[in-house]
Amino acid sequence: MPHVVTQSCCGDASCVYACPVNCIHPTPDEPDFATAEMLYIDPAACVDCGACVSACPVEAIAPESALAPAQLPFVTLNAGYYREPRPRPLLAPVLPPLTAPAGREPLRVAIVGSGPAAMYAADELLTVPGARVNVFERLPVPYGLAWAGVAPDHARTRRVADLFDRIALQDGFHLYTGVEVGRDVTHEELLAHHHAVVYAAGAASDRRLDVPGHELAGTATEFVAWYNGHPDQADRPFDLSHRRAVIIGNGNVALDVARVLTTDPGALAGTDIAPHALAALRESRVEEVVVVARRGPEHSAFTVPELIGLMGSPHAALVVDTGGAALDGDDPKSRLLREVAALPAPAPGRKRIVLRYLSGPVRVAGGDRAEGVELVRNRPVDGGGVEPAGAPELLEAGLVLSSIGYKGRPLPGLPFDEARGVLPNAGGRVLDGVDGIPLPGVYAAGWIKRGPTGFLGTNKSCAQETVRHLLDDHAATGPLPAPAELERLLKGLRPVG
Ligand code: NAP
Repeated sequence: MPHVVTQSCCGDASCVYACPVNCIHPTPDEPDFATAEMLYIDPAACVDCGACVSACPVEAIAPESALAPAQLPFVTLNAGYYREPRPRPLLAPVLPPLTAPAGREPLRVAIVGSGPAAMYAADELLTVPGARVNVFERLPVPYGLAWAGVAPDHARTRRVADLFDRIALQDGFHLYTGVEVGRDVTHEELLAHHHAVVYAAGAASDRRLDVPGHELAGTATEFVAWYNGHPDQADRPFDLSHRRAVIIGNGNVALDVARVLTTDPGALAGTDIAPHALAALRESRVEEVVVVARRGPEHSAFTVPELIGLMGSPHAALVVDTGGAALDGDDPKSRLLREVAALPAPAPGRKRIVLRYLSGPVRVAGGDRAEGVELVRNRPVDGGGVEPAGAPELLEAGLVLSSIGYKGRPLPGLPFDEARGVLPNAGGRVLDGVDGIPLPGVYAAGWIKRGPTGFLGTNKSCAQETVRHLLDDHAATGPLPAPAELERLLKGLRPVG
């Protein structure tokens, strides 16, 4: 009975390296790894050894016989990846061990941020004998989006925190929480006392809609932070008194929010959801969440695993309003959307999530609070874009959230690529903004390096690339002041573990 990768796949590829028969793809060295929505097990090659199950940090892999009915689409999805045979090596790729130049003082690295990219980078660095890694986190709790960005009902995905706990227990790992670089300690101070500083600060703000009334809308990322108990959003009021909520944008964040808004609060009670959010959701009158996409179904930004998860929800029906677009693709997403579109209309009174396509927001309506969104029907044009093709129509709602992506923020004392919202970098080496020369000792990993794309585990290969470059450059770094001087700097910044 072959094993199957399911919804919570984080893409960190630990399973790839654990597999003795190289039956999990794409592997990090294959071209489609960067764009893959998950990893897939070849049912014809799997020898059912279960090594991948132990390696996966988020319990995404199970034998086919152990799948719940709602997970069965993953059997077809895994097998579908291997429909077209491709030559593959017999053995999975092996990562060459990391080494630091001999005869140097022990490697000392500061990491700014403690989210997935930071933790994966720390894990790599700590394979170097004698290395010390000081991790600086602005918030009182570590691991960033691993808790603040993952929906509370995605309990398996949240288990990646157990992996980070194990990384944090390693010798040489030191975590300083409640420390903001630029306020409590400067970039220059960190650089003076470490061979390298790795920025893994994520994408701390979100992109805003550019339409009149946009200030009346909240953002999905604020809403996610609110239900996850992020201190920056704890007191934020969200209007759940209207029967409809609208989310602009149809990425996985939009789907997370739509699902949480329509899940029976009783089912959320046993999760990590913040108590204030659970209390508000218990009073919520939201029955319908409309997820608005400006383009057609073939451009849906959500991933197939999340769509399958939503299709299996016992709490809300899924409805597709194609806006007149054809649903004729032969890819897994189109096939699943066709299945949903063919379902009978949900029973009256049943909560629903409507995936609405070819609808562009032109105004957020309301006075001192959002009362709806004006949407215009779009029609596709060559090149994948759209153009308006109708008069605006008001879709009334109490809660209007834009969910159009995260954006990195500039960091004190560092160059910044405003257009992409990242630190300008080449493979993680941060570049001087003016002439594009690597800044000695300064590196980036995660969303502040590559932009807000991919999954929690994507940060592993991203961090590996950065750390490899950091170690390649290490021979050129000068000797550091004595460790006692670093201790003086860090005095007062209380380490946790
Ligand atoms: P995203 O996937 O980049 O989706 C952004 C959405 O906003 C797209 O539908 C995009 O449509 C739309 N959009 C952008 N600008 C717009 C505008 N001006 N007007 C209307 N629509 C606009 O962003 P995200 O959902 O924030 O996700 C970020 C990353 O986190 C993704 O890699 C995602 O997979 C990951 N994530 C994963 C999970 C999970 O696996 N469960 C959960 C959360 C987040 P166009 O395509 O037309 O631009």
